[in-house]
Amino acid sequence: MRAVPAIQTECVIIGAGPVGLFAVFELGLLGMKCEIVDSLAHPGGQCTELYPDKPIYDIPALPVCGAQELVDRLLKQIEPFHAGMHFGQEVVALELQAGGRFALETAAGTRLDAGSVIIAAGLGSFQPRRLMVPEAERFEGGQVHYRVRSARDFHGQDLLIAGGGDSALDWALEFCGKARSVTLVHRRAEFRAAPASVARMLELVASGRMHHLEGTIQSLAIEDGRVAGATVAARDKSTSVVRCQQVIACFGLHPKLGPVANWGLALEKKSLAVDTEKFQTTVPGIFAIGDINTYPGKKKLILSGFHEAALAAFGVQHHVYPEKRQYLQYTTTSPIMRERLGVAPPD
Ligand SMILES: Cc1cc2nc3c(=O)[nH]c(=O)nc-3n(C[C@H](O)[C@H](O)[C@H](O)COP(=O)(O)OP(=O)(O)OC[C@H]3O[C@@H](n4cnc5c(N)ncnc54)[C@H](O)[C@@H]3O)c2cc1C
Repeated sequence: MRAVPAIQTECVIIGAGPVGLFAVFELGLLGMKCEIVDSLAHPGGQCTELYPDKPIYDIPALPVCGAQELVDRLLKQIEPFHAGMHFGQEVVALELQAGGRFALETAAGTRLDAGSVIIAAGLGSFQPRRLMVPEAERFEGGQVHYRVRSARDFHGQDLLIAGGGDSALDWALEFCGKARSVTLVHRRAEFRAAPASVARMLELVASGRMHHLEGTIQSLAIEDGRVAGATVAARDKSTSVVRCQQVIACFGLHPKLGPVANWGLALEKKSLAVDTEKFQTTVPGIFAIGDINTYPGKKKLILSGFHEAALAAFGVQHHVYPEKRQYLQYTTTSPIMRERLGVAPPD
């Protein structure tokens, strides 16, 4: 089988949080093409994953802006630059090649060949919170799942779905009637999911088409080397055994530094050390912006990350085209920048 050819680009941005997205814009203004990769299935980083509905009050000139709204606005702003976007793919490898270019690879097998790299990995790559009971790890991907890749695989089986947010409720509703049985286990009586989903779930439980247990999974029952059930402990320490062949744990995601720590870049307190002239790491050609970096006086604010993106873009341009003269242009008056933005030339 022939290897998939690597995508050639001037810059790869690792992380599509607000800062990585703005880096697309700053590179685009300088006439540079890029590819942006994120391990999440969608852009937005912490804004989308952790607090989409919360208002942000410290974005310049936007007195108040919802976190998801900010991401939507950034996506609109970068539209003219047609960046290649790769979601649901963690960048697992980054290597400097002979000749000075960088080879990157994602967990999904996408290969990229770049003149420079901007790491905008925030607090790290979001990973599912795992089921912390003995034996769970052994069955991960087999009978213990943190995401549903192919819904049909679960049809006709006894399912235990754990969690109290939208994912848990959505899957419980989706599989009700398709799985042989669905038991929803959540540690509290209150759910964090959409009220309509909770109401529907309670209806199905009342009519006996779905089971609901308040409690936490204490252990898995293993029979003949396979998961055959789980013991659920209630708050009063009483236990019940649920028969199931598949456990879907929807406990949400949490960020973990992940592969970034293995790329030979200087780290200080789990952050990448950079200069403040162009936010370059200890490897020339690799830049780090946003929450992932550290320098004297660093503040983990979106505003600071936007500034870092602007200076890193100039750093990238100089690294890829060292001969090119750099000068500052204003979007208001620069014909070339307005052409890149796809707006009318200045009067
Ligand atoms: C509840 C809350 C409220 C906040 N309120 C404010 C506020 O009011 N104002 C403010 O300025 N800031 C606020 N912040 C902080 C702000 O959200 C962060 O500063 C900002 O998200 C940083 O952006 P980023 O792009 O650097 O990183 P992130 O938003 O963390 O995005 C990084 C992205 O990189 C991806 N990634 C990491 N490693 C890899 C890899 N190896 N491969 C592929 N993808 C990878 C991650 O999946 C993630 O999507 C708040 C944070 C929280 C949690």
